[in-house]
Amino acid sequence: MRKPFVAGNWKMNKHVEAARTLVAELLPGLQAVPSVERVICPPFTSLMAISAMLAGTGIGVGAQDMHFEAAGAYTGAVSPAMVKEFCQYVILGHSERRAYFGETDSSVNRKVKAALTVGLVPIVCVGETLAENEAGRTAEVVTRQMRDGLQGIPQEQAAQIVIAYEPVWAIGTGRAASGEGANKVVADDIRKPLKELFGEQVAQAVRVVYGGSVTGSNAVEFFGQPDIDGALVGGASLKPDFIQIVQAAKK
Ligand code: PEP
Repeated sequence: MRKPFVAGNWKMNKHVEAARTLVAELLPGLQAVPSVERVICPPFTSLMAISAMLAGTGIGVGAQDMHFEAAGAYTGAVSPAMVKEFCQYVILGHSERRAYFGETDSSVNRKVKAALTVGLVPIVCVGETLAENEAGRTAEVVTRQMRDGLQGIPQEQAAQIVIAYEPVWAIGTGRAASGEGANKVVADDIRKPLKELFGEQVAQAVRVVYGGSVTGSNAVEFFGQPDIDGALVGGASLKPDFIQIVQAAKK
């Protein structure tokens, strides 16, 4: 039985004080749903403040990226151990990192390994662009991102990983995938590669969530699907809607 998982990706939003205010507003509602694994991923600058606020609440904290190297001359970068000082989770391979910051399957792979080494749970994002979707290339693209992004990970660590299926055309567009359509990609192009890489037990243990214009009203369509275990939420995680989404994930 996989524990439902819902994470909020705040992207490049909220200064420290505004981040504190939002967490204070969300906290009672989030704490009322302990059967769901709940994570907030603010920008780096708010991680210290938010991790202090969330300590002991049962709500996890995640970063939105990190470097794969442990230390050194990487101006502007943050190492896995630095992230681990404040977080239990880290989002890796988000489509915005792939599109605007040169993230590749190969760098994602190095980051996933580095995250697991320091004890962070990687939330690994995969998903096809609109052009790839329209060209009928979804299966090819998502399967490649899975295989190349997760190759060489020790089998005993693989079950901890969370995968987020985020069709790029659904992110921030208000045009969510259908529950059934997303479930088919998760079953065929995410759980099958997981089975090839790590075996059936791991493929069934890994939480796979959907992301892309999830709201308090459409969340239930995704959570009712057999292979979808929750959501990675962008825009709606900055609003009370996030509590509704977490409530909808409750089994
Ligand atoms: C995201 O950025 O991971 C995301 C799913 O965004 P949104 O919910 O705003 O589509």
